[in-house]
Amino acid sequence: MPASDKTPPARSTPVRKTGSARGPQVRPATEGWTQQKDAEGRPLLQFASPKRGKPPVHLADLTPAERVEKVKELGLPGFRAKQLSTHYFTHYTSDPAHMTDLPAAQRDELVAGMMPPLMTEVKRLETDKGDTIKFLWRLHDGALVESVLMRYPGRITLCVSSQAGCGMNCPFCATGQAGLTRNMSTAEIIEQIVRANRAIADGELGGKKANDHSMERVSNIVFMGMGEPLANYKRVMDAVRIMVAPQPDGLGMSARGITVSTVGLVPAIRKLADEDIPVTFALSLHAPDDELRDELIPVNSRWKVGEALDAAREYFDKTGRRVSIEYALIKDMNDHPWRADLLASKLNSRGRGWVHVNPIPLNPTPGSIWTASEVHVQNEFVRRLNDAGIPTTLRDTRGKEIDGACGQLVATSEDEAEAAALV
Ligand code: SF4
Repeated sequence: MPASDKTPPARSTPVRKTGSARGPQVRPATEGWTQQKDAEGRPLLQFASPKRGKPPVHLADLTPAERVEKVKELGLPGFRAKQLSTHYFTHYTSDPAHMTDLPAAQRDELVAGMMPPLMTEVKRLETDKGDTIKFLWRLHDGALVESVLMRYPGRITLCVSSQAGCGMNCPFCATGQAGLTRNMSTAEIIEQIVRANRAIADGELGGKKANDHSMERVSNIVFMGMGEPLANYKRVMDAVRIMVAPQPDGLGMSARGITVSTVGLVPAIRKLADEDIPVTFALSLHAPDDELRDELIPVNSRWKVGEALDAAREYFDKTGRRVSIEYALIKDMNDHPWRADLLASKLNSRGRGWVHVNPIPLNPTPGSIWTASEVHVQNEFVRRLNDAGIPTTLRDTRGKEIDGACGQLVATSEDEAEAAALV
């Protein structure tokens, strides 16, 4: 679930701005699109995935034992499952031409049965001198999703999507405006990583030659692409299990490098805390008071700030993993000094040393109500939290030049046309 640069597509809605002794207050509102409402006039929340044709079952949807069974059903000995897993999770390939250890006569059929195509690359955009790549993928049913690959000193991070669209209807978020198309399957989540690893192995990240960094691969995952990951809980957790399973059964990644974020689905946060996988947990808070958060994050109408923070604290208690609070700084909307103080007080009232805050400057979008806080305001917000004893660091917003930052991951009509051309 996204947290950073949110830029709605147009800027026509009038700004509702009210002044007070505590500084100007801009209220959240959609710009250029109409938020879907429920019968009571509140923003519609969609938790259940609409029924659509399921993606084909893939090796990455199955446990190692199920893979063996399926290979046997296809008429081959069970040990072939391990060979296929090695090709997929270690060599990042689904191309039968590269699988010369499999019998030539049955190779194509076996690969088609175990690794059906899941997504087609529609296009990619690069920025940061090639160190950031945004991929647009078309799924089997035409749904479009994106992932963003970013090289940082000492790590390579992939921002993955967990749903096509999103049902949480946040007014600042381009993804949310189209509603939830469907949940992604476990294999569709994993395939984003495998395809990114293939691109890295082929030397496509940072424009270096393959043999310069052929040992490199994605080291960090953030679930901050399209979708609310905890609304697709089972498939996301199955995907996390495959990420951390040793190769060749899975990708052999460290759980600590995996960040699962949410806008605050409290029962699912509690469930996550009970899993025996120490992922990093991030709560996209964006406002410390219910009055603003009810408008900014519609799911707050279901679970309030206090409940979400209690659940986040419980996550720390059960896992020992420090929680991240994501906070997009939006000019005159949520960046007031008193809100920094209120946030610090709510976090400190739940104990010390369990949390850090990542304010994320919004993209500057002049003329929109959704624009960046001024730099001195950002600095003051950070200073107040740090002075109150809450470790706080402004987060990098890589990829914003290509609309690849969280919350901007929405397919445009141009993307739709390119995808249609591939069918
Ligand atoms: S609408 Fe969904 S994807 Fe967008 S910010 Fe809200 S939870 Fe995240």
